[in-house]
Amino acid sequence: MTIALIAHGGAGKWRPGSDDDALQGLAAAVEAGRAILAGGGSAMDAVCATVVALEDNPIFNAGTGAVLNFDGFCELDACVMESRESRVGAVSGLQRVRNPVLVARKVMEQTDHVMLTGDGAQRFARVMGFPDHDPVTPERRADWFDKRNRIDEVLGEHALKMRRFLKDHPEYAGGTVGAAAVDAGGVLAAATSTGGVTLKMVGRVGDSPVPGAGNYACARVAASATGTGEFVLRSLATRSIAERVEQGAGLAQAVEAVLARLGEDYDADVGLIAVDDRGTPVARHRTRDMPHAFFSGDSPVVARMRV
Ligand code: ASP
Repeated sequence: MTIALIAHGGAGKWRPGSDDDALQGLAAAVEAGRAILAGGGSAMDAVCATVVALEDNPIFNAGTGAVLNFDGFCELDACVMESRESRVGAVSGLQRVRNPVLVARKVMEQTDHVMLTGDGAQRFARVMGFPDHDPVTPERRADWFDKRNRIDEVLGEHALKMRRFLKDHPEYAGGTVGAAAVDAGGVLAAATSTGGVTLKMVGRVGDSPVPGAGNYACARVAASATGTGEFVLRSLATRSIAERVEQGAGLAQAVEAVLARLGEDYDADVGLIAVDDRGTPVARHRTRDMPHAFFSGDSPVVARMRV
C-alpha cells in the first residue's frame, strides 16, 4: 500500500507576509505525520501528530491561537475518524484545552459516544488527564477587540449580514487545520480541528466536529473540509466525496464535483483535502488561498498556498 498524507491550514485569505510561516508550519506538520507512516505507524497516529503540530502553532485557527467567539473566548471543535469500523470521536465547545484533537480521539477510544460538547467535554478532558490550558493568545485577543469594534454596525440586524461580511472578508475566518492519511495497512484516517469562525455566537458548532460534514474517513477516502461551516454542514461535503468515489469517480473528479456543487448551491467559501486508498492526495478550494502540504509514497513533502 502507498502511504500518503495531506494537511490544510484553512481556506481563506492569508495576510501578506504570513504565507511563509503558514507553509513552513504545514510542511513541518506533514513531516511529523510522514515519519510515523514511514515507520509503519497508523494513519490515526499520523493525522493526530500532524494536527497537534498545527494546533500548537499559534498562526493557525485551532488549539493555541484559535479565534475568539463573540463574547471573547475560544470554543474549540475537533473530530477524528478512521476507516476501520468507522471509528469516530469528536468534541465541540472546548474552552481550555491545548489539543482538542487528542480529546476527540479519547472520545473515540474511551467512550461509547461519538461527540461530547461544552462543559461535559471539558470535564471529560480533565478526567482523561488533559491539563488546564488557555488557548487565547494576545494577538488573537487584540484582533478580537479590533474586529468587535468594526463589526458592530455590520452585525446590527441579523446574522446573515455576519455571513456576508465573512464572505467579503475571508481573512476573518480561515486557519482551521485538518489532515487525511492512508497507512501501509490500507487504513484511512482524518482529523480536523478549529476555533470556528471569528465572532461566532456562543454555542455555535460548525462542520469540523461533525462526521461526514467537516471530517470523514471510510475504506476508500479520508477527507477534511474548511471554510464557512454552515455550508459544509448543509452539503455533508466530505461524505459526498466518498459517495462519488464509491460510485466510481476518481478522487480529484469527486472533490471537484463536490466543490462545484458548493459553489452552485451556496457560492460557498470553502476548501477540501482528501486522500484515497491508493495514496492519491487532492486539494481544491474556492477561496483565494488554502495553504496545504502533502506527500505520497517516497515523494518529498510539497507545500503550497493555493492550487
Ligand atoms: N469550517 C470551520 C467552521 O466553520 C471554519 C474554517 O474552516 O475556517 O467552524
